[in-house]
Amino acid sequence: MGEGNVTITERRRQTRNKMYRYIYDSRTPVSKQQLAKDMGYSLPTVQQNIAELLSAGLIRPGEIQKQTGGRPAVGYTVEEGIRYSIGISVSSTNLRILATNILQDELAYKKVRIPVFEENRVGRQIADELEIFLEEQKIPSEKILGVGLTFPGVVDREKDTIVLSPTMRMKNISLSDVRELIPYPVFIENDSTSGGNAEWFGLSPEERTENFVYLFLENGIGGAVFINGHPYLGSEGRSGEFGHMCLQPEGRLCYCGEKGCLEAYCSAYRFTRDLGISAEEFFAGLEEGNAAYKALWEEILDYLAIAVNNLRMAFDCNVILGGFVSGYIEPYLPVLREKAAALSPFDTDGSYIRLGRYPIKAGMMGVAWHFTKQFIDEI
Ligand SMILES: [Zn+2]
Repeated sequence: MGEGNVTITERRRQTRNKMYRYIYDSRTPVSKQQLAKDMGYSLPTVQQNIAELLSAGLIRPGEIQKQTGGRPAVGYTVEEGIRYSIGISVSSTNLRILATNILQDELAYKKVRIPVFEENRVGRQIADELEIFLEEQKIPSEKILGVGLTFPGVVDREKDTIVLSPTMRMKNISLSDVRELIPYPVFIENDSTSGGNAEWFGLSPEERTENFVYLFLENGIGGAVFINGHPYLGSEGRSGEFGHMCLQPEGRLCYCGEKGCLEAYCSAYRFTRDLGISAEEFFAGLEEGNAAYKALWEEILDYLAIAVNNLRMAFDCNVILGGFVSGYIEPYLPVLREKAAALSPFDTDGSYIRLGRYPIKAGMMGVAWHFTKQFIDEI
């Protein structure tokens, strides 16, 4: 009998959850009649669930604007401020912090320059900056679902350790103090995996069931693989480490210690460290016709095309480009597509290469989404 009760309770919860998700994905107010029609529930079932969601503060009434004019009908929409999630991106020189509401809209963002991350003080440095940010933005602590952190490196989530971060020059750094110093649930993730999660979230509910590969282009290069709408993490949690695919045996030295990696050719360090200029300055110079920049960019595009075509051969799906470098690629996308297609025995064009929706903030968005998703799953 007890089990039967659990099943009924759980079934009711699932119905409520489905209805919440429908309202969530609609983004504009939905009427009870519309919910009943689209979801195949009786009107009393819809009314019961709406009442529960309203009393939990998860949804609120909203007006449905009629095209024909007249009195607007009452519908329901998600209460976006019920909870907040925080995403923090840690790179070799910066700490970037972002707060989102339950709809994953950006509420606040801050970039802090950290000249040196001290290996044994990383946790303290992050916790201090987070506290300042929350105070400045007046984000109520009781509404925070959790704090997600992304690092440019291989992260062992179970041991809270950065196994290897060539771009931060860190190896086997314990992050156990991070959990103790941050007074919220903490989730730690590799930056490109998080970026891929953000792109997955940005897809329509139908598209989320598809396959795609995400290539993350920043100082470090990484990626993520999504199969049937689910991330494929690999046996050791290192799937999508595309930056260290060898493209040129005995080629340029990579920060990982090997030679000829994709990252050695296409990392943003090719402008920032090799030329001593920002990505913005590089692309501005490129547009003005700087010959040296043009030659370098041509080389970068050639290697990027090889990498993208390799991913296409391995996974047979769309390849989405993300990371801050991808924010500058749009004018060169036709050339990149052409170069990649020329390498392929199957593709006649490179239309499978897409640009991501969040070039700059993908990692933070994705890691904040971890908590938002958890909250929604449990409704
Ligand atoms: Zn490498």
